[in-house]
Amino acid sequence: MKTKPSSFVSPDCLFCKIVAGTIPANRVYEDELCIGFPDINPQAPAHLLIIPKRHIASQARCTAEDAALLGHLMATATKVAQDYSLDGGFRVVVNTGDDGGQTVNHLHLHLLGGRHMKWPPG
Ligand code: AMP
Ligand code: ZN
Repeated sequence: MKTKPSSFVSPDCLFCKIVAGTIPANRVYEDELCIGFPDINPQAPAHLLIIPKRHIASQARCTAEDAALLGHLMATATKVAQDYSLDGGFRVVVNTGDDGGQTVNHLHLHLLGGRHMKWPPG
């Protein structure tokens, strides 16, 4: 099956513009596959977003072909959590679709920490 190139972008996508640098963000992490930056509306003392450089609309669009990238995003969240000394724990959230509360249609992991998280989430 054909896969999209790692440079694939969606022209009207906010996070693709952050990847391209046309919308500013403080890149606290970057490698060839993904970037991490603070959420503009933080919900915890530490609230970072980890996003693939390639445009993927949501987790609902992911397939087994994306397994390596998804694993890389999770491992990156762990690394950033260590960088932020979230030694007491943290939460990774992937809002997906309308019911999932997704507002930006470019796959992203929320990394939240620095306070005690409640369950169930709202
Ligand atoms: P979601 O609601 O799961 O789609 O998450 C999208 C997140 O992107 C929200 O938590 C927003 O606060 C965040 N956000 C929107 N615009 C920006 C931006 N320019 N820089 C950083 N975070 C943003
Ligand atoms: Zn995008």
